[in-house]
Amino acid sequence: MKIAVIGTGYVGLVTGTCFANSGNDITCIDIDEKKITGLKNGVIPIYEPGLKELVLRNAEAGRLHFTTDTPTAVKTAEMVYLAVGTPQGDDGSADLSAMWAVTKAIAPHLQEDAIVVTKSTVPVGTNAKIFGMLKELTGRECHVASNPEFLKEGAAIDDFMKPDRVVVGVRCQEVSDKLHQLYAPFLRTEKPFLSMSPESAEMTKYVANALLATKISFINEMANLCEKMGGDINDVRRGIGHDSRIGFAFLFPGVGYGGSCFPKDVRALTAMTEDKGNLPEMLRAVDNVNERQKTVLFTKVKEQFGGDLGGKRIAVWGLAFKPETDDIREAPALVLIKQLQEAGATVIAHDPEAMDNVQAETSGVEFADRAIDAIKGADALCICTDWKAYHQPDFAEMYQLMAQPIVFDGRNLYDPERMKARGYCYHSIGRVAVD
Ligand code: NAD
Repeated sequence: MKIAVIGTGYVGLVTGTCFANSGNDITCIDIDEKKITGLKNGVIPIYEPGLKELVLRNAEAGRLHFTTDTPTAVKTAEMVYLAVGTPQGDDGSADLSAMWAVTKAIAPHLQEDAIVVTKSTVPVGTNAKIFGMLKELTGRECHVASNPEFLKEGAAIDDFMKPDRVVVGVRCQEVSDKLHQLYAPFLRTEKPFLSMSPESAEMTKYVANALLATKISFINEMANLCEKMGGDINDVRRGIGHDSRIGFAFLFPGVGYGGSCFPKDVRALTAMTEDKGNLPEMLRAVDNVNERQKTVLFTKVKEQFGGDLGGKRIAVWGLAFKPETDDIREAPALVLIKQLQEAGATVIAHDPEAMDNVQAETSGVEFADRAIDAIKGADALCICTDWKAYHQPDFAEMYQLMAQPIVFDGRNLYDPERMKARGYCYHSIGRVAVD
């Protein structure tokens, strides 16, 4: 199939590349000329495992093209995927300005029977609005479908190639069949292709993200209580996870969720709930608990140093909102760094992939090329991201290099008793601190 994918970010680039890899002819479009020029020259704008090789292979095979020229790409496309950003607006609801701009831009160039597919996460009713806009602009009833994306950054290729399920929201069987055909190569393991109304598909995406965010905020609230009660959240997690009604997934305590999806999607769903006159009590609690959780490491650091961080050197390992990505949108580490700096501490940061992005958004932060260099002379180390590179550091060398052997582990990477035996003062989440 000949497909135009508009918006070449995390989702658009992965979607376009994976569709090209299954034999389709894909043109990825973006308004960002620098991004498109880079991609034409084999420069991948984001870090995502396996993406670079796949882009290069498919571009070389002539199945994957990049352009800023929307009209030319849309004119010949059987399907037009919309994958532009839908960030949080000032009032918490989704900002759909890019979506409306693209709808207007494609309308004059759409083929008679082209299918416009919304990949971006959009509030319930957006597909209907796009249908209405296109009808007004083209004078005909265009096919508009919803196809929300469930990939996780850091495992995006794998998630796209082997989805747990594919959800489409359609108004007619013909469009559903065409989308099923497009996804057939990715559903060979008998995973379901779920066809429903656009409203249900749009809602499915928000409900999925809100539920995942709820699990994180719930376990974080329980972890904070465990610390006060003398329990160990890891043991509690084991204790509940074996119950088949509960399970283990997404119940890891930490320093809160971040990224470009959970925070904004929870807030957009909150805005939708309020808009319809319902009370978003759970959603508000999920967001509030998460915002507070992003500050727990700072509170622990401050307490440790008697409230005075002036002149302290604090190392921060992990800046990306999760491992295997360079994405720092709403990352908990950014909140911690700001709080540490405001309290008078010097921050020395390390991340395997996200340092350039943080450098562009902060000032006064020192960056270390190697994790071990960040802790030289540090009064404490804070860990915000669960990168594998931090799982087994040389604790003896660290002990020698740090000014004070104090670790605040926001991802529970180490065993408290072992840390104590190694001579560290060790704080983690939902487990009693050891000294
Ligand atoms: P992104 O910011 O990485 O990419 C969006 C791209 O759209 C940018 O490259 C931007 O330049 C481009 N763009 C904006 N306006 C444009 C226009 N008028 N014409 C052409 N290009 C334009 O965003 P993302 O993370 O890829 O997310 C895209 C959508 O997918 C969002 O709705 C998001 O909620 C959803 N989503 C994201 C993820 C994720 O993990 N990132 C997962 C599932 C769903």
